[in-house]
Amino acid sequence: MAFDIEMIKELYSKYPERVEAARKATGKPLTLAEKILYTHLWDGNATKALERGKDYVDFAPDRIACQDATAQMALLQFMQAGKDRVAVPTTVHADHLIQAKDGAKADLKRSDVTNKEVFDFLGSVSNKYGIGFWKPGAGIIHQVVLENYAFPGGMMIGTDSHTVNAGGLGMVAVGVGGADAVDVMAGMAWELKFPKLIGVKLTGKLSGWAAPKDVILKVAGILTVKGGTGCIVEYFGEGANNMSCTGKGTICNMGAEIGATTSTFGYDESMERYLRSTDRDDVADAANGIKEHLTGDAAVYADPDKYFDQVIEINLDELGPHLNGPFTPDRATEVADMKSEAAENGWPLDVEWGLIGSCTNSSYEDLTRAASIVEDAVSKGVKPKAILGINPGSEQVRFTAERDGLLDTFNKFESSKIFTNACGPCIGQWARPGAEKNEKNSIVHSFNRNFAKRADGNPNTHAFVASPEMVAAIAISGRLDFNPLTDTLTNENGEAVKLAVPTGSELPESGFAVDDNGYEAPAADGSSVIVDVSPTSERLQLLTPFAPWEGTDLSGMKLLIKAEGKCTTDHISMAGPWLRYRGHLDNISNNCLIGAVNAFGGATNEVVNQLTGDKGEVPATARAYKAAGIGSIVVGDENYGEGSSREHAAMEPRHLGVRAVIVKSFARIHETNLKKQGMLGLTFANPADYDKVREDDTIAIKGLTEFAPGKQLTVELTHADGSVETFPVNHTYNAQQIEWFKAGSALNLIKEQAV
Ligand code: SF4
Repeated sequence: MAFDIEMIKELYSKYPERVEAARKATGKPLTLAEKILYTHLWDGNATKALERGKDYVDFAPDRIACQDATAQMALLQFMQAGKDRVAVPTTVHADHLIQAKDGAKADLKRSDVTNKEVFDFLGSVSNKYGIGFWKPGAGIIHQVVLENYAFPGGMMIGTDSHTVNAGGLGMVAVGVGGADAVDVMAGMAWELKFPKLIGVKLTGKLSGWAAPKDVILKVAGILTVKGGTGCIVEYFGEGANNMSCTGKGTICNMGAEIGATTSTFGYDESMERYLRSTDRDDVADAANGIKEHLTGDAAVYADPDKYFDQVIEINLDELGPHLNGPFTPDRATEVADMKSEAAENGWPLDVEWGLIGSCTNSSYEDLTRAASIVEDAVSKGVKPKAILGINPGSEQVRFTAERDGLLDTFNKFESSKIFTNACGPCIGQWARPGAEKNEKNSIVHSFNRNFAKRADGNPNTHAFVASPEMVAAIAISGRLDFNPLTDTLTNENGEAVKLAVPTGSELPESGFAVDDNGYEAPAADGSSVIVDVSPTSERLQLLTPFAPWEGTDLSGMKLLIKAEGKCTTDHISMAGPWLRYRGHLDNISNNCLIGAVNAFGGATNEVVNQLTGDKGEVPATARAYKAAGIGSIVVGDENYGEGSSREHAAMEPRHLGVRAVIVKSFARIHETNLKKQGMLGLTFANPADYDKVREDDTIAIKGLTEFAPGKQLTVELTHADGSVETFPVNHTYNAQQIEWFKAGSALNLIKEQAV
């Protein structure tokens, strides 16, 4: 189940017919993104043109990947589905929970102890249900996927927003919430709004200090963090063909930073080289057999304005290195302009750390280019001013880099630190000495995200994003405004020296090598595998199925909170320290809605407990209602539940006894998540009825015995003074989703149907 060439061959055998059906249905030549989307329709060949940005479509992804933080709840849910094995090849990667502190060996050892129960859980569930498990230290999910599983023309989903990295090998790869992944693991379709398409035409060739990273840093500057929302970005042109496969991965990876659904590149020789060097001749041969279908039609690229919703052109000959930041990845500054920008904005000029790694830039090529800068500096007698921290992307990359002397090169600087092949500082898993002092400072890194606190928890750390080679140069100089194209450094002899232009190897000359890649194949028959979860664990808790609908209208419910203004999934289920409880529904429910602003008084995490008249915290108040056998209701404003797709934001209120969420409007993914968890997600037919809801209301929902698609329900408010008001509410439940509600959750229904 981990990697299946036969599955790829079978998909490829369908490609010609399916692509032709899509051309016929749309009556036009196709982009690559359209080819991949139309060949993965759940219902087979296309029969009609799908409207971009409008139609919701069922797809059949080829693969699923989960990382350790999100996999916990996803797998706990899958265990509820009553299936023996996952329906689609799936892997789990232990990478997010490993802290970077003292260096790879010590850090991994410590993490194996502190995260033991979570890793053991993930390993045993994977073993039982046919899921490939990549152990702690094996590497970062997206680098491992690129090396082992991504293939041209494929479609995958993953419970991590940077799943999009696999676009570097010509996939449509999309980050999703755990509930979506569980559906596909259980054999159901995956639903996505048919994306709009942005074409990026790359002309020319990268040279000198410019790297693939600079392409996406430039694109981020053009499109901003929202510019790609609801879109697939498709790169094409001679500039794309001139770039390595892992470089393409870097560009696709940071498509997440412009909000894009995903990004992709057409199959070319760089991908073929990468497939062959990572021991996948069979995939390369199969891809070569249908080459013409694994890239957009020539007519599309000849006249892109006609076929894409938006087109951007970048001439790589003119592209200079960038440094994006601080605090947002779309604040793009050319390195050449940093002196004036930094001075104007008062950004700290001294750089204390340079970090190379993350799923974005931790390939062999990345390490060779960064190492070439270090080697050059050493040979010229320059001592680094800042510390260089390096997280290789995978054990295969690390082992090969060690064999080829790259790690020795980095270690020539005493202050360098080689961390575990894991996310580390990219996700706040960095025990940075002194970070707790919250001092204003600058760091540079080759990661993707640079939001406040993201790397070290210090809100005053100004993090700038750059290519690995630029990170190395800036770390050596210790200056944010160092421009290696023009500036010199002073060596140990007091001489002014200039760093040479970076050089690197796209792929290792003697091929990749690895001793133990950290992969654990699942049992052929996992039926006897026991999944152990301690009942006293504070981090993991087996799920109990939610109760099915009682078959009557709902009455006697209390208002839990009427949220006012923005209420995102972060307001509903905060991240930060709560990440620790992602696998324990009861414990993480203690953050339920604690960020929502109470419309009565404007406080957060303070509501009236109608049973006592006292004010209390939201989770505790919900628990009090639940203990008294009373359901509760959440009322919200516009676009309720925007933000991430995390299913915790729907599971927590459900767990705490909330029966319905009634809002002016929903963010769609959250609305679907509520439906999946057996909740009622309703919208005011007349948004002004929001004002009718009072703090001390008792609430009934009527019409459930005739619950049907398109048919309104009625909400009845009984105010404390005894007066009663009613109003209609809308819903978007289809017949299937009504069955989810009746069964108590989508998983309950899957389980019923599996029996
Ligand atoms: Fe996410 Fe960073 Fe890990 Fe990539 S390296 S998967 S961005 S935490």
